[in-house]
Amino acid sequence: MKYIGAHVSAAGGVENTPANAHAIGAKAFALFTKNQRQWVAKPLTQENIDGFKANCEKYGYDPKHILPHDSYLINLGHPEKEGLKKSQDAFLDEMQRCEQLGLSLLNFHPGSHLKKISEKECLSTIAGSINLVLEKTNGVTAVIENTAGQGTNLGFTFEQLAEIIDQVEDKSRVGVCIDTCHAFTAGYDLITDEGYAETFRKFEKIVGLEYLKGIHLNDSKKELGSRVDRHDSIGKGFIGIDAFRRMMQDARFDDIPIILETPNTEAWPEEIAMLYGFANE
Ligand SMILES: [Zn+2]
Ligand SMILES: [Zn+2]
Repeated sequence: MKYIGAHVSAAGGVENTPANAHAIGAKAFALFTKNQRQWVAKPLTQENIDGFKANCEKYGYDPKHILPHDSYLINLGHPEKEGLKKSQDAFLDEMQRCEQLGLSLLNFHPGSHLKKISEKECLSTIAGSINLVLEKTNGVTAVIENTAGQGTNLGFTFEQLAEIIDQVEDKSRVGVCIDTCHAFTAGYDLITDEGYAETFRKFEKIVGLEYLKGIHLNDSKKELGSRVDRHDSIGKGFIGIDAFRRMMQDARFDDIPIILETPNTEAWPEEIAMLYGFANE
């Protein structure tokens, strides 16, 4: 069974997210547990926590279908000591917020070398950061998102994701989220039958399906291999509708959160309904 939703607003408090997801017909959702553009946020209150849990229960959301996203400021592969420490502290805070909310996943962008260290060193730094934070928390899996490879962002090849996972000590609490727009602009064809088959065959071989904890479902405003991250509405971009229909009928994506981060939020109810339609064809 497919669990499709979108990254919904947490305005007014995280406790509002389950109702926001329910209102668009979502069976899964993503959220920020704090303002994603600020380093420090005030702690969650007991009211936030109790309200969130009660509303998840009320609307029938299981933690494994909720995929919180961390702040965009965090760089767990930061080449400099001070920047790295700041990112690790912020990531730990995000993991702890997830723990408080009873969530089991936290999705993050792996990190950037900023042209100051080698790719290899940056990947090891990212793994080191994950190890550090997993040691201090319980029950939350660190979910690495593949990137488009824009700028100096790493994690745009399956090999890079595997290299990070390889260096994580607790393999039971590390996972991967595949963003379709990022994969496509990083050079993984999803358009043709053969391209699609080959992309996920590679994923299974290099990373492993057991690590797949979520999907970001986005079309792309940019071409295959452009290394630029610009999401488009489903079926409106360069990936096109066929790839999304194929994914909705692919059992490998059952029972994990499939999250829209498409730009036209008004269209989410229709996009979600269309995708469930594909899944039920
Ligand atoms: Zn994404
Ligand atoms: Zn993106």
